[in-house]
Amino acid sequence: GSTVRIENVSKQYDSKQGTVQALGGIEFSVERGEFVCIVGPSGCGKTTLFRILAGLEPPTDGEVLLNGSTVTEPNADMGIVFQEYHLFPWQTVQENVAFGLEKADTPADEKRQRVQHLVDLVGLEGFEDSYPKALSGGMKQRVALARALAIDPSLLLMDEPFGAVDAQTREMLQDELIEIWQETGKTVLFVTHDVEEAVKLADRVVVMGKNPGSIREIVEIDVDRP
Ligand code: ADP
Ligand code: ADP
Repeated sequence: GSTVRIENVSKQYDSKQGTVQALGGIEFSVERGEFVCIVGPSGCGKTTLFRILAGLEPPTDGEVLLNGSTVTEPNADMGIVFQEYHLFPWQTVQENVAFGLEKADTPADEKRQRVQHLVDLVGLEGFEDSYPKALSGGMKQRVALARALAIDPSLLLMDEPFGAVDAQTREMLQDELIEIWQETGKTVLFVTHDVEEAVKLADRVVVMGKNPGSIREIVEIDVDRP
């Protein structure tokens, strides 16, 4: 069955200029293990949809279901990666990756092993004790990815994760993400404004239209991975 169901999701913002319709009746599903990219022009509501998927804000109407349960807040079955990394600057690579495991009552030994495995998986062995400020953008995003994977979520949610790195690093990270996805079998929902990136990465691309202030069209295209 499907992992994520977005059911008739609408979002309105009230501003001084009046009501802004950011999303109108969005509806689609993501199957277990699929890599789906959500793509669309600036202002079409991608970030809004992402924040609703992640449980960071409520929809005005409709709901998001993850493995059959309504999403009302970020939960342990989702790993979230933002464009701006959002690492804890006062924590080392190791500590950042371990963050999600702190709440879980994982035995210390197992936790250490798991953190090391993830650090290796994202290619940061040797940087365990480094602080974020000593790392390049690409490396910081690798830490964020490892941290998101630490809790072993079924869903990986990524919002323009490679938007802040240079083109060469981006390509490297894209290739690494595909490998990690194939290795871990996670369901991935990846938001980007870059059509080329979407087509390179995804099994399926969900296109959001830029129909200002009203219902967005969603077109699904099946693409062949290169
Ligand atoms: P995208 O991520 O695709 O650029 P957004 O989700 O950021 O799109 O924005 C969708 C629409 O909602 C835009 O018209 C934007 O101006 C509006 N919007 C987003 N956040 C807010 C907010 N907090 N208050 C008012 N309007 C907002
Ligand atoms: P960005 O381009 O965002 O600065 P990169 O991830 O490409 O980030 O890293 C830039 C440089 O940092 C690389 O050329 C390399 O010298 C060093 N670097 C990155 N990742 C590693 C790694 N896993 N091991 C050793 N050095 C690394």
